Amino acid sequence: MNAPAGVYVHLPFCPYVCPYCDFAKWAYAPRGAERYLAALQAEIAAAPAVRGTTIFLGGGTPNTYPAATIGALIESLRTRFSIPRGGEISVEINPDRALCEELPALRAAGVNRLSIGVQSLHGNELRALGRRHTAEDVETVVARARAAGFTNISIDLMFGVPGQTEASWRDSLERALALGIDHLSTYGLTIEAGTPYARWHERDPGAFFDDDREARLYAAAIERAARAGFEHYEISNFARPGYRCAHNENYWRNGSYLGLGVGAASYLAGVRSTHTRELEPYCAAALGDGAIPGESEQLAGDERTGEATMLALRTLEGVDTREFRERYDVDFHARYAGVIAELTAAGMLRIAGKRVQLTERGRFLANDVCGAFLGGG
Ligand code: SF4
Repeated sequence: MNAPAGVYVHLPFCPYVCPYCDFAKWAYAPRGAERYLAALQAEIAAAPAVRGTTIFLGGGTPNTYPAATIGALIESLRTRFSIPRGGEISVEINPDRALCEELPALRAAGVNRLSIGVQSLHGNELRALGRRHTAEDVETVVARARAAGFTNISIDLMFGVPGQTEASWRDSLERALALGIDHLSTYGLTIEAGTPYARWHERDPGAFFDDDREARLYAAAIERAARAGFEHYEISNFARPGYRCAHNENYWRNGSYLGLGVGAASYLAGVRSTHTRELEPYCAAALGDGAIPGESEQLAGDERTGEATMLALRTLEGVDTREFRERYDVDFHARYAGVIAELTAAGMLRIAGKRVQLTERGRFLANDVCGAFLGGG
């Protein structure tokens, strides 16, 4: 039996390019988008025969493609990787109304989870982010998605946006939750080198939030989502009971995954590999001899356990030390005794039976905590 793995497909075209974005993405052009699909189909045919568990179509903006095209892609993935009927199939969508007219067809194609890139429900913040949808678009799209039979809808919101205030952030949270969504992801704005935002930040750093102000907005999200009955099951993710994202949970459990498409990453049999982020070399290789340029490394020893710890600590459950020993043959407490003692004393980690978890304070400083484990303890 082939190893189980989540299957990720990167669809890198967008109707426009946002000035803060550092993903592998390009403005939609029909010919390039068509060639890319052909490359993807070639990669799917040549990919390792994993037993797929979930499918996640991310981007980019997957709904720049017609629903029929996405349906055909899902069918290829299902057939090639034996995705079980009823397995989670998520698609990221942009809530631009014009891009969301085919939601019933997307549902009919087997998509059972939508992740909507909303970012904000305030016009001035959306404009600052270069986004072209409005709060009304979001309301319409969520209503259409429900009418189309989607019972699992997630919204992404962003904090730390220039022009945002604590009040406008709380209002975006309120309005998102009022839509009756099942899952919420909140991310702090990151300034990525080489983007127009990086240049803006350089010119006018005062337009951006500092860590303390960002932490207050994150705390507001945690508090509001809890009040709405959402589980804070991962640092950036909240779900109504039963609505966690299975595909992403597999990442945090350090499970195997197969990534297809430009810039996509895979983790199979202990090897982590990443495809080139250059579009044409990806297409040419996939359509040619199939050897897609990129990098790969075998994760072993400290690197493997440090990575597994970092991922597990992001989750509500934290590190299950018993499972850790069975899986990696490492006594977690013995291996990381120094760092556990230090971070527990600093109020960032707690030990709960067989589990080691981030405290509330630890969640705010998660990068530091994870860095300590990645540094080898
Ligand atoms: S829509 Fe998303 S992927 Fe596309 S440019 Fe904007 S942030 Fe990046």
